Amino acid sequence: MNNPDLRRQLKQGLDSLKAAGIEYLPRAQVLPAARQAPPISAAVAKSIPEAVPGSLFGGDVPTGLEIPTTPDGRRQALAVLEAEVKNCSKCPELYSTRTMTVFGVGPVDAEIAFIGEGPGGEEDRLGEPFVGPSGQLLDKMILAMGLKRQACYIMNVVKCRPPGNRQPEPSECLNCRPYFDRQLELLRPKVIVCLGGVAAQNLLQTKIGIMKLRGTWHEHGTIPVMPTYHPAALLRNPAWKKDAWEDLKAVLERLGLPVPGR
Ligand code: URA
Ligand code: SF4
Repeated sequence: MNNPDLRRQLKQGLDSLKAAGIEYLPRAQVLPAARQAPPISAAVAKSIPEAVPGSLFGGDVPTGLEIPTTPDGRRQALAVLEAEVKNCSKCPELYSTRTMTVFGVGPVDAEIAFIGEGPGGEEDRLGEPFVGPSGQLLDKMILAMGLKRQACYIMNVVKCRPPGNRQPEPSECLNCRPYFDRQLELLRPKVIVCLGGVAAQNLLQTKIGIMKLRGTWHEHGTIPVMPTYHPAALLRNPAWKKDAWEDLKAVLERLGLPVPGR
């Protein structure tokens, strides 16, 4: 194998399988999400209706794949999915420019999942979501909630960095959708917090802007979803922090956790 990119990605994939305790692979493995979802070209994406009814994607079992019943089983299924993402080449531009895929971090039994847009420069370099400037603010937001970053699951709509930190294209979000659908059905958090418009619009399949979506409860299947501002937007518009804080307090209340200042 002379292609160093391919070799690096293959090794990354095998390493994460090994970490999950998987010692061997069947000779011709058909990867489930890859089999389900061929790449979607920009032209095809355009022809897809803009608002797909939530019920098509909603429900607790959107992918139809098996959901292990034990935390260990779900952890292992997440590692298999992560390895699949590491080998993914469905978005030609993202695949060819990424340094690392950024799958997501956090415990399999996290009560809250935060969903961002896509990796930035630091995330692409380190392979972990929200570790750059936005991540530092997210960490502060989580601390203000009386929680620890390590207790939350943190992930993005797209797993590869859009070059120059542009927004991910609709076709790229659709390509990556089977991964985050599967990720969410394995995690089944008690609450999902969408950070910013791209996360909220993709998860909820709506064109409504974040200004209108935020602050009210939505649903992904049976999981309550609270959209709020993206930390990068809060860095640009500190006056919005007050509203974001109200959204996060609503999340704590919904979880039956203590709400600071009350
Ligand atoms: N912005 C995001 O949306 N996600 C990250 O992981 C980092 C910055
Ligand atoms: Fe694959 Fe998602 Fe990366 Fe696109 S963004 S190449 S679908 S992992």
